[in-house]
Amino acid sequence: MVSIELITVGDELLIGQVIDTNSAWIGRELGRIGAQVDRIVSVHDSAEDIREAVRTALGRADVVVMTGGLGPTKDDITKKTLADLFAGGRMGRDEAVFEHVRRMTAERGMVFNELNQAQALVPEGCTVLPNRVGTAPGMLFVGPAGAASGAEKLLFSLPGVPFEMKELMAEQVIPIIRSRFALRSVVHRTMMTFGLAESAMAERIEPWETALPEGLHLAYLPNARGIRLRLSAYDVEEGQAAEEIERQFVRLGEYIGPYLLGYEPSSVESAVAELLRSRGETLAVAESCTGGSISARITALAGASEYYLGGATTYSNAAKAQLLGVSAADLEQHGAVSEPVARQMAAGALERFGADYAVSTTGIAGPGGGTSEKPVGTVWMALAWRDEAGEVMTSARLMRFSELREQNIERAATHALNMLRLHLLGVSEAFQQTGML
Ligand code: ATP
Ligand code: MG
Repeated sequence: MVSIELITVGDELLIGQVIDTNSAWIGRELGRIGAQVDRIVSVHDSAEDIREAVRTALGRADVVVMTGGLGPTKDDITKKTLADLFAGGRMGRDEAVFEHVRRMTAERGMVFNELNQAQALVPEGCTVLPNRVGTAPGMLFVGPAGAASGAEKLLFSLPGVPFEMKELMAEQVIPIIRSRFALRSVVHRTMMTFGLAESAMAERIEPWETALPEGLHLAYLPNARGIRLRLSAYDVEEGQAAEEIERQFVRLGEYIGPYLLGYEPSSVESAVAELLRSRGETLAVAESCTGGSISARITALAGASEYYLGGATTYSNAAKAQLLGVSAADLEQHGAVSEPVARQMAAGALERFGADYAVSTTGIAGPGGGTSEKPVGTVWMALAWRDEAGEVMTSARLMRFSELREQNIERAATHALNMLRLHLLGVSEAFQQTGML
């Protein structure tokens, strides 16, 4: 059995200003892959305390996971302390991290200052775990083999910000632990859902979740592309567990209907692809705030040429008018981020590409450009198709996302594709507006 200890770093945890939810989440997620956390410790942002905690934990455990203290400010000293412990204090610049931080600060409209540049410094000899959603990279230090397991000891250092920590755990830490240690027998199956917020999902499936048979465990894994729902069973006969999980997912479908996309790795775009292919129909795209990412996501799927005709990324008003035929008067009167413009973009793409369907997006991805009427995160999207008489029809939808540019783009692209998916499934517009069955 692999032995794992957690260390969370931060004065805020010890004065009760922030509750250590990181440890709880990590413990739960590791438990689900059959790896058990044996000890959790929180320490001050103090070199001495961090050193002491790391030495003690590595003395006992096979794996130590730390969170916090990786930021560029003076109070965050975890990275420097680990450099002292593992690399004689030597740090070097990681070019990929440097480039990533430079790009992220630019996207957020921030100055790329010395503090940001310091984020690209990592202790010599550590393995950088890229942080897609933040600026502080995760790090992996490999120590000498432990007596108990015979495997090399691993120390992971992750950012304290919960959503960054979760991303790094899911994408990096868990796969590495799985590949290095023998874990208990566990069966997992994961369903993809899209279109419901986590709390709304929890409410809707509550009766199903409560009635889950003993031995089956449910996990919610939300991100901008939907919520993954994972069912896990431990120390079980695999065939039986897989059958029971399958049965439960069929029941789940009765509760969440069209929000269910299918088993992982299905996605909104793969579901759209499947529907279009089976109907022999085609798609075109008109993008403003999503900047081509809808097209990129569709063409990332093999065989996209069967149903995808093309897209126009029209960022300026002039491009919207010239390439898609959006009315200059409407652009002037309503602004680029507006219902009539979204509808005309979709209709323009439908006609110009000669497609059966077209989707469009126009919005304010941020961080700048928001107004009180149209704050950052405001996105209009539309779908165009032809009715039986050959008339162009459109439907439009207004979304209000967050302040985060990357997430706004991802969510807008996913929702626009989902409008088409629901339309192809024959789900009414009323349902799409309210999200109610
Ligand atoms: P970054 O460079 O991304 O800011 P960091 O490693 O420096 O990462 P910290 O400065 O330690 O992160 O913490 C950032 C924020 O994350 C804290 O203000 C707190 O809200 C949250 N946080 C830190 N540790 C935990 C924890 N153990 N549980 C829950 N939240 C935490
Ligand atoms: Mg801190």
